[in-house]
Amino acid sequence: MREMTVLIWVEHDNAAVKDATLATVTAATQLGEVVALVAGQGCGAVAAAAANIAGVSRVLLAEDEAYAHGLADNVAPLIAGLMADYDAFVAPATTSGKNIAPRVAALLDVMQVSEILSVEGPRTFTRPIYAGNVIATVESRDPKLVLTVRTTAFAKAAPTGGSTTVETIAGPGDAGLSSFVGAQIASSERPELTSAKVVVSGGRALKDAATFEAVILPLADKLGAGVGASRAAVDAGYVPNDYQVGQTGKIVAPEVYIAVGISGAIQHLAGMKDSKTIIAINKDEDAPIFQIADIGLVADLFEAVPDLTAKL
Ligand SMILES: Cc1cc2nc3c(=O)[nH]c(=O)nc-3n(C[C@H](O)[C@H](O)[C@H](O)COP(=O)(O)OP(=O)(O)OC[C@H]3O[C@@H](n4cnc5c(N)ncnc54)[C@H](O)[C@@H]3O)c2cc1C
Repeated sequence: MREMTVLIWVEHDNAAVKDATLATVTAATQLGEVVALVAGQGCGAVAAAAANIAGVSRVLLAEDEAYAHGLADNVAPLIAGLMADYDAFVAPATTSGKNIAPRVAALLDVMQVSEILSVEGPRTFTRPIYAGNVIATVESRDPKLVLTVRTTAFAKAAPTGGSTTVETIAGPGDAGLSSFVGAQIASSERPELTSAKVVVSGGRALKDAATFEAVILPLADKLGAGVGASRAAVDAGYVPNDYQVGQTGKIVAPEVYIAVGISGAIQHLAGMKDSKTIIAINKDEDAPIFQIADIGLVADLFEAVPDLTAKL
């Protein structure tokens, strides 16, 4: 396999490297030499942390007010401008990565290969289609590769063990296409949904926001779990839409996934079926969720969940 030079986008909040970056590094190292781009403002600590990630051979730091909030309209031209020196650009398939990478692909006039699950060759990848029911093997013949990585499919690179230099670069700055107005960041003591080791998710059966809170949250708190939901629960307003697990929500693969009052529609399974152990609580013994559950409890959740919570 010819060694490529790969540019990765480091996801961060100007203070710390986000976990999704570590899986991205693992995927990128399978292609070649990995150079990490940290774009932000006041994010020197992020660049220093990125330089410690095992497998990263160089860090580029671009600091500018235009990059402070990771606006894709500003970050994408910065990346596209650097790509003359790289064979591939790789970003995590997170909300932000999925915002930036297609813009980079468009600016380079190449296609994007989305949500790769594995690297099969220098230009050959597997990726899910039909909500994960078919795994396609795809080859790109474009002159530059633009990839997003399904982060649950790759092990996380060690955050320490590397030690490389940080090089400061300048970028084109504000593209004048969008401006930052504000951010409402949900703050929670609970682990983040996509990186939690245990996830408790509730479905339509939880009835309303107050019941969801009263039944699901105590169990999640006892287990130190992240909280997720089906789309039906989100659409009915029980929880905000960043809780949604599934094809049009978040993809999770925790050690333990507990589905409470969730039927197991394929669009939901697409977001959680790679979880190591799946536990389902549902009063309908024919619910499709039981076909993929490792442990199934046919019970009324309003009795079973408080019981379980009390026993933990
Ligand atoms: C294009 C598209 C994209 C979609 N994307 C997503 C997605 O990303 N994520 C997602 O989740 N869905 C998604 N959906 C919706 C999906 O098809 C289902 O409608 C949804 O997942 C159903 O949610 P649910 O399981 O909570 O509700 P339901 O299917 O209504 O299931 C509720 C379950 O609760 C059980 N139940 C009821 N009362 C109790 C009780 N007292 N105790 C125990 N069990 C009880 C019932 O037996 C039932 O199995 C998508 C659909 C489309 C068309």
